[in-house]
This record gives sequence, structure tokens and C-alpha cells, in this order.
Amino acid sequence: MALEKRKNHIKAEEAKIREKYGKTIKIINVTGEIDCPDCTYDLAYRRSTNPNCSTCKGKGKVVQEEEYEEKVLCFMITEEEIRETEIGGLKVGDFRLIARNEAKPYFQKAATDKTYFLIDDIKVIPFRVVPTILDTHITVYASRITE
Ligand SMILES: [Zn+2]
Repeated sequence: MALEKRKNHIKAEEAKIREKYGKTIKIINVTGEIDCPDCTYDLAYRRSTNPNCSTCKGKGKVVQEEEYEEKVLCFMITEEEIRETEIGGLKVGDFRLIARNEAKPYFQKAATDKTYFLIDDIKVIPFRVVPTILDTHITVYASRITE
């Protein structure tokens, strides 16, 4: 199993570099919706009985989230990298993250839910998750949120 051996080698090398130079980020996944803890949900009208509730903004429901921590390598996208990559929609200042393969579902879900996370206080949303050919790790392209 030369291929399996090669795969494990790449995985181990990548993990070593990530452990040494990586930073820990929190990925947020939406797991569902619950009744707002600060007001009452009105079943008949499908909104809060208090339209001025600041917690749910009058919706009566709040999004339930779960956080995962991952150590990743972070790179900021440069103009040169935009030219070299096949990924469309990248802007200078967006991020390319290298993460372990096992974190793929969390990043994919965060991309689907459009939940943001912070890299050095910069708000980003993962928008494309690309596995390597041997499935050894993943590259996550995350776009900066401009407000
Ligand atoms: Zn509320």
C-alpha cells in the first residue's frame, strides 16, 4: 500500500506544520432554532408577543449554534494568488485556510449556514471547501465580510 503510506506521510507532515504555525479559530454551526429565552413565541401569529424584544428582534425564535475549535494555517489572498487559483469570487484580503480533513463537515456546514468566524478580529465566512487529491487535508477559502 504505497499510496496509503504516502497519504499518511503527507497527513503527518501537514499536521506538524499546522500545530507549529497554525492558529485556533472557532467555527460556528447552526444546529436549529429555539424559542427566544427573553420573550414568548406566539404560535398563532408566528412571532414574538413582544415585537421590541432585542434578543430575537421580535421573531420569537433564536438560532441555536454550536462552536468547534480548529487549528488552521491562515494565508491572506494576494493579487498573485487570485490569478493562479481556479476559485472564482476571491478578493484580495480574503483568506485561504489549511485544515485537517476531518474538519470538512464543520466548514461545509458553516458555508451553507453562512455563519461567520473571526481571524484576528476580521469577520469571514467560509465559501468554498476544497479537498486535496489524496484527501489528506482541506483548503478552505473564506471571504471577508465587508459591512
Ligand atoms: Zn425574544
